[in-house]
Amino acid sequence: MSERSAAPGGLALVESLVNTLDLEAGTDALDTPEARVRLGITEDGVAEARELRESLRAALLAHAGHPPHRAVTPLGTLLARAPLYVAVDDHDGSARLAPAVQGPLLSRVATAVAEALVAGTWTRLKACESETCHWAYYDRSPAGRGRWCSMQLCGARAKMRRYRAKGP
Ligand SMILES: [Zn+2]
Repeated sequence: MSERSAAPGGLALVESLVNTLDLEAGTDALDTPEARVRLGITEDGVAEARELRESLRAALLAHAGHPPHRAVTPLGTLLARAPLYVAVDDHDGSARLAPAVQGPLLSRVATAVAEALVAGTWTRLKACESETCHWAYYDRSPAGRGRWCSMQLCGARAKMRRYRAKGP
């Protein structure tokens, strides 16, 4: 859980997908129609969205230097199923990466990752190192070495655990 503001640009979609699962509470928002509408998927797309979500979480953990939380389909394998092409504007010659197939969540995520690569923001989207959290957050720290979704919550808890481990 986090008091942070949403990740910039298309990364907000990635962040919001990853954070549909609340590990601590054991609730999955993909079970609710509200979250499915927000992400533009139907009930049929939930299994695929869950697979994509955990592949993304593993990539976000890797951004912070952590091993995957569990075995996942590599994110690259999933994104290869949603090819992008270079779309060029006939009028001003500007170019951008666009999904070959408009609409599906996978295509929108692939586009968001491509945009974040260009903006230099992709590796700043991380997953909290706390095993009971693994919440996605955008690391705005100057050095980019954030470790927790929230210093107040998970950071404080980790410190407390270390303190207890040391003993009196
Ligand atoms: Zn956390």
